[in-house]
Amino acid sequence: MRLPSYNYTVVNCYPRVRAKTATHKAGEIMALYKYAQFLTQDTGVAFDQTHGPGQRVPYSGIYRCENCARQIAANQHDPFPPQNHHQHNPPKPILWRLTVAAH
Ligand SMILES: [Zn+2]
Repeated sequence: MRLPSYNYTVVNCYPRVRAKTATHKAGEIMALYKYAQFLTQDTGVAFDQTHGPGQRVPYSGIYRCENCARQIAANQHDPFPPQNHHQHNPPKPILWRLTVAAH
């Protein structure tokens, strides 16, 4: 699969992430962690589903936009950010996928 290139400025994020976001492909931005012992791999279907703007967050955690790799932290039962949260060029839908679940 060929990943789209995009360019945007990230504000209020972890400094190392910002340094990598000048120009990149969607697959180059990943959630960061330091201590692997605090994470456990899980193969649940929750990690395969995508969610649109305004839909209810099914599980608290970190979500990644399928079309640009932008990440958000979201709380269970809250709505996902609205359609105007960010835009893609060329236009593509915002689709949030769970990358790290918190519980
Ligand atoms: Zn996006």
